[in-house]
Amino acid sequence: MASRPLHIETPLLRTAADYSESGVPLWLKLDALQPSGSFKLRGVGLLCQQEVAKGALEIFCASGGNAGIAAAVAGRSLGVPVTIVVPETTSVEVRERILATGAHVLVHGSVFDEANAHAISLAAERKAAYVHPYDHPVLWDGHATLIDEVVRAGAVFDCVVTSVGGGGLLAGIVEGLRRNGLSDIPVIAVETEGAASLNASITVQQRVMLPAITSIATSLGARQVAQHVFDLVSQHSIESVTVSDADAVAACLKFADAHRILVEPACGAALAVADVHAGLLSRFKAPLIEVCGGIGVSLAMLDSWRARFL
Ligand SMILES: *Cc1c(COP(=O)(O)O)cnc(C)c1O
Repeated sequence: MASRPLHIETPLLRTAADYSESGVPLWLKLDALQPSGSFKLRGVGLLCQQEVAKGALEIFCASGGNAGIAAAVAGRSLGVPVTIVVPETTSVEVRERILATGAHVLVHGSVFDEANAHAISLAAERKAAYVHPYDHPVLWDGHATLIDEVVRAGAVFDCVVTSVGGGGLLAGIVEGLRRNGLSDIPVIAVETEGAASLNASITVQQRVMLPAITSIATSLGARQVAQHVFDLVSQHSIESVTVSDADAVAACLKFADAHRILVEPACGAALAVADVHAGLLSRFKAPLIEVCGGIGVSLAMLDSWRARFL
């Protein structure tokens, strides 16, 4: 199954050493430039492609965020209908954004778990693929292509900084390091305070479920990381750090001014590490930051977060 991937190869930038408080030049992998606006198309695209190759006639996904948009973009490329199931709490704005991609929106249940269960049962009833936002080996396999690209570009890096929600991106990065013979390269896993389900799990050495998400970085808002992701902590060098929402917003603004690209606070969290945890990053010569992107951002949203946090 060597059909062409649905994601694109994204640019890799090198900053000057004085770009951040860390004092070391940073590699920035610009996955914000994927056609879906985030890295998610890597894994979601691969999963949808494989399912359609196996005969799936439509795609179901439960997500009001970047996974849903990635499924919509994938479905359009593959020529199959996509239905995104969202809970009643999903805003009209988000529903309209999904509709604008050409996907159908189905409103079901009062919380994500109910919408998700409905998407799973609909997909099982019909000849359809079900796309989970972060917990599937094919997603990790697809996300791993970002490391393949960096290695293929000949870039030498000695740590990877990534945001963590449910942990699919982290799992993909670890898989990418493994399959490129780079298992000794540590990963710095970043969450915002109020969405730090991995950090809390590492602290008590047990996978915990947060009672609620209180961060504005909603794309990091999985109340619990995938079991596989929790297990990875004992298999790979993973350092868990947190930043505040204010740190994440400041990093989004700095990145927008420097590179003229808007990213969500979920992505700002990873970018913030080079300033907020400068001491940690300065231990490395060439950190690689995954600029994961996200479409849940606009000039107006950045303005309102700036007014609220800075
Ligand atoms: C999904 C997402 C994340 C988190 O990815 P996980 O695989 O859930 O850990 C981070 N940033 C953005 C922009 C996302 O869309």
